[in-house]
Amino acid sequence: MIPFLDLHKINARFETQFQEAFKHFLDSGYYILGNSVAQFEKTFAHYCGVKNCIGVANGLEALRLILEGYKVLGKIKEGDEVIVAANTYIATILAIKQAGLKPVLVDAEADTYGFDISKLEQAVTTITKAIMPVHLYGQITNIDIVTAFAKAHNLLVIEDAAQAHGAKFQISNSKPQIPNDTHHFLKAGNLGDAAGFSFYPTKNLGALGDGGAVTTNDDALAEVLRKLRNYGASTKYVNELQGFNSRLDELQAAFLLVKLKQLDTDNNRRREIAKTYLTQLFNPKVILPVVPNYEAHVFHLFVVRVKNRNEFMDYMEQHRVGTLIHYPIAPHKQKGLIELNHLIFPVTDILHDTVVSIPMSPVMTDEEVQEVIKVINSY
Ligand SMILES: *Cc1c(COP(=O)(O)O)cnc(C)c1O
Repeated sequence: MIPFLDLHKINARFETQFQEAFKHFLDSGYYILGNSVAQFEKTFAHYCGVKNCIGVANGLEALRLILEGYKVLGKIKEGDEVIVAANTYIATILAIKQAGLKPVLVDAEADTYGFDISKLEQAVTTITKAIMPVHLYGQITNIDIVTAFAKAHNLLVIEDAAQAHGAKFQISNSKPQIPNDTHHFLKAGNLGDAAGFSFYPTKNLGALGDGGAVTTNDDALAEVLRKLRNYGASTKYVNELQGFNSRLDELQAAFLLVKLKQLDTDNNRRREIAKTYLTQLFNPKVILPVVPNYEAHVFHLFVVRVKNRNEFMDYMEQHRVGTLIHYPIAPHKQKGLIELNHLIFPVTDILHDTVVSIPMSPVMTDEEVQEVIKVINSY
C-alpha cells in the first residue's frame, strides 16, 4: 500500500534529535515560553525574512490573533469586513468570525485554486478592512494582484500561510541584491502586513502536536501579539490587554527547531515529485493543477480534479494507492456556518465535488511515485 501520507516515516528521520531535544527540555525545568520558543521565533523569522515571529497555539489562533491585534491597534473594529477565498479551509473563515468581523467570500479560480481575481472588486464595501489571501495547497496565490488591489482600497493583507512554509515569490521589478542575481525572492509570511502559519503535524513544517506562528514586519503588531497570546501581559501578572492563552508549546518549539533545518530539502523533494507527476501523468480523465512557477509552490498537497471522484478513489484504493479529499464540503455549505449557506459560488462548488489529493510527501521513494503514475495512467 502506498499511503496518502506516512507521518511516522517523516518523523522517524529525526528520532535521535527529538530525544535529545526532549531531554534538554525536561532537564531545563522551564516548560512554557522558554528558550526553545524564543529560539524558534528568531530562527523562523530569519527563515521567512521578516522582523518578527510570534509563536502561538495553532494556525487558527495565529490568524485570529492578527485580527485581534489590529483591533487593539485601532486599524480594524468589530463588524468590519474581511475578504477571503470561498474555497479555503474553514479555519480562515472561523478566525474572521471569532475576531468579531464579517467574512466576505470570493469565488475561486479552478486552475490554481486561488482567488478569482475578477470578482475581488465587487466584494469591497466601505467597511472592508482586510483581505486574506490563502496559499492553498502550498501555492502562493496571485500576490502581486492582491497587493495592488489592497493598496488601491487601503486594505491590510493578511496571509494564510498555513500550507506554504518556504514558498517563494519572485519580485520581477525589484533590484537584484547581488550583481547577476536576477532572482530576488520574498517568502510566504513576508508578502503582506502579517501572516499566520500552522505547524499541525501534516503541514510541510509540522510539529508533533499543535502549534502556530504569526510573522510580521509590523513591530507595533508584534508587541501587541506577544501580550495577547499570554493573557495580555508582557510582565508576569501585569495584564495590559484582555488577552488569550495561546502560546506555542515549548516542547513543540524544540521539535520544530530540529525540523526547520530540513524544510528546504523536503520542499525541494516535493517539487521534484510534483514535476514528475506533471510530466508523466497522462490521463484525460484526470485534470492536473497548473503550476506557473515551481519556486512559488511547496506542494503541501498535490490536488487533481476528477469528474467521477468516488469511482476514481475506489479504483485507487483497489490498486493500493491512498487518496484524500481537501476538502469535501465548502465552508459556505457547512452547517457550522449556517449564515453563509444561502451563498452560491459556482467554481468553488465544482472544486469541492471534483478535487482529489494523491500521495505527496518528502519521504516517498521514486518507485512509489512511479507506481502512483502507472496506476493513474491506467485508470
Ligand atoms: C491547517 C490550516 C489552518 C489551521 O491550522 P491549525 O493549526 O489546524 O489551527 C488554517 N488555514 C489553512 C489553509 C490550513 O491548512
